[in-house]
Amino acid sequence: MRSLKDLKERVWKCNLALYEQGLVKETFGNVSGLDRESGIFAIKPSGIQYKELQPEDIVLVDLDNNVIEGILNPSSDTKTHIVLYKAFPKINGVAHTHSTFATAWAQAKLPIPCLGTTHADFIQGDIPCTNDLTKVQINSDYEIETGNKIIERLNSVSYSDVKMILVAGHAPFTWGLDPEEALKNTIILEEIAKLAYLTIKINPLVNSLSDDLLNKHYLRKHGDKAYYGQRKKIKFGEDNV
Ligand SMILES: [Zn+2]
Repeated sequence: MRSLKDLKERVWKCNLALYEQGLVKETFGNVSGLDRESGIFAIKPSGIQYKELQPEDIVLVDLDNNVIEGILNPSSDTKTHIVLYKAFPKINGVAHTHSTFATAWAQAKLPIPCLGTTHADFIQGDIPCTNDLTKVQINSDYEIETGNKIIERLNSVSYSDVKMILVAGHAPFTWGLDPEEALKNTIILEEIAKLAYLTIKINPLVNSLSDDLLNKHYLRKHGDKAYYGQRKKIKFGEDNV
């Protein structure tokens, strides 16, 4: 259980970071982190103020939605996290906030167009927005259906390439290889959402970034020939990758 104790601590820190970064107010939002080996994930408890949150409050849940450890109820969004963990086998972190600018786009039910290289450094195109949930979906298993809407929208896009989405009328979800990356993607998304809003305010007729510039920025960070950042340190005899 040592690694799960560490996971709880890391997830606690990520949840606190959401608050410290101004991405959540009151009790909104949550970050979780999954240990794939045991199939158990750590998630923020429901309805607890961030300032009061302690590492021991973080709840451990399995992928069948059974609470494994913790006296508090897990986040009300827990089932959405489970749907994403099951559908996206390489992710081990999910974050959800109602951060102002990303949520405004979600409420407008619009994808965020790629208007500049800040955006293109992370996503090779629009940040998608789901379709509305139907009345039946809202009134059945709402949190599961929210996850299903995310998967449905990503249908033709890889979850490894697009690690953020807006749920129409609700707010964003992000994910990553671990909870720290899910948190980072939430921070990036809010900045992109804010920049896009301001850009359209300044020039409502602005065009999306050209494909040339979009691909240049995305691929220099993420393509096979990526060259952004520091070269990975290699040991003698390893291929220079
Ligand atoms: Zn929410």
